[in-house]
Amino acid sequence: TKYLTKTKAFEGLPKLSDFKIVEEDIEENLADGEILTEVVCISVDPFIRVYPFPPGIPVIGFQVAKVLASKNEKYQKGNLVMHFGGWKTICKVADSSCWYRVDNVLSKEDITQGVGVLGMPGMTAYFGFLDLCQPKEGETVMVNGCAGAVGSLVGQIAKIKGCKVVGCCGSDEKIAFAKSLGFDEVFNYKTEKSWPEAIKRCAPNGIDCFFDNVGGQLASDIINQMNTKGRIACCGSISSYNSKTPMQGDIVQPAMVSKQLKMEGFVINEDRFKPRHPEGVKQMSQWIKEGKIKVRETVTEGFENTPKAFIGMLSGDNIGKAVVRVN
Ligand code: NDP
Repeated sequence: TKYLTKTKAFEGLPKLSDFKIVEEDIEENLADGEILTEVVCISVDPFIRVYPFPPGIPVIGFQVAKVLASKNEKYQKGNLVMHFGGWKTICKVADSSCWYRVDNVLSKEDITQGVGVLGMPGMTAYFGFLDLCQPKEGETVMVNGCAGAVGSLVGQIAKIKGCKVVGCCGSDEKIAFAKSLGFDEVFNYKTEKSWPEAIKRCAPNGIDCFFDNVGGQLASDIINQMNTKGRIACCGSISSYNSKTPMQGDIVQPAMVSKQLKMEGFVINEDRFKPRHPEGVKQMSQWIKEGKIKVRETVTEGFENTPKAFIGMLSGDNIGKAVVRVN
């Protein structure tokens, strides 16, 4: 097997030289419940930047893989599964690391969606937004990082629920993409002179639900323009992930108090939501079939290019889900 490992702890934006490929033999005999798999595609996700896994082991993460051999009655040779095997070509996987059979719900051409809209980012958008924000028809929803894997789905789910949807993202091409998905107003946070003014212009009646992918000052500016009894889902704070200095932002407590806001964080692959994965897959698949959710991916080819895809995603090169196709 081959795997990618980091050579040292990341500092700032990861560099290609922070990674190396390691080859090693893999013991093919399986314990009960285990499967042996060969990678098909690899997901590059922001949490990999901040999760403190040590150098030397395979970089952590989700992949879709083909079952080569099985000692688990749920999976047969030839099946495609999504599992948490990391950036590794041949994996021995325990039952607890396997999420679901991907070939049950996706065709071969769409298999990369197994780590996207039907995988962790899709479930993050579905459960994180609907459960934590409790959107109501006619309300205004704000999503930052709105052209990425999670954000682009949150915006579309908000439209399905009859909300007005405001987004922000880092390029004009991404604005056009978000508009094509049905976002009502979108601004470019990199080129606006004043974030409070841009938010006011796009959401003149204030914000009822805020799905926060970014954190920092941008999030504070949004929270300060929320309506009474507004809900905030704290999904991520990517503006801080590569930062070498502590994160800064105006205080939000006065707005939290006076507007009686509710702010809640969540981690999608924990007990609260993980058992509900089949429900999320079913609903998202249905919406895709009905044309209510459009899926876009930025695909990089080749196992050895996984670090490049990861760094590109952190730098904002991706539109929709960033994924690496290996086989
Ligand atoms: P994306 O597909 O959105 O890719 C990351 C994007 O972040 C980039 O394309 C870039 O877009 C944007 N970005 C990078 N740096 C900054 C910055 N300094 N300020 C603002 N935006 C920045 O990633 P995901 O959809 O996979 O993840 C989105 C968020 O959701 C992340 O914060 C992630 O950690 C979180 N997450 C949380 C989960 C949970 O369980 N709570 C699960 C999955 C994801 P742009 O061009 O717009 O800058």
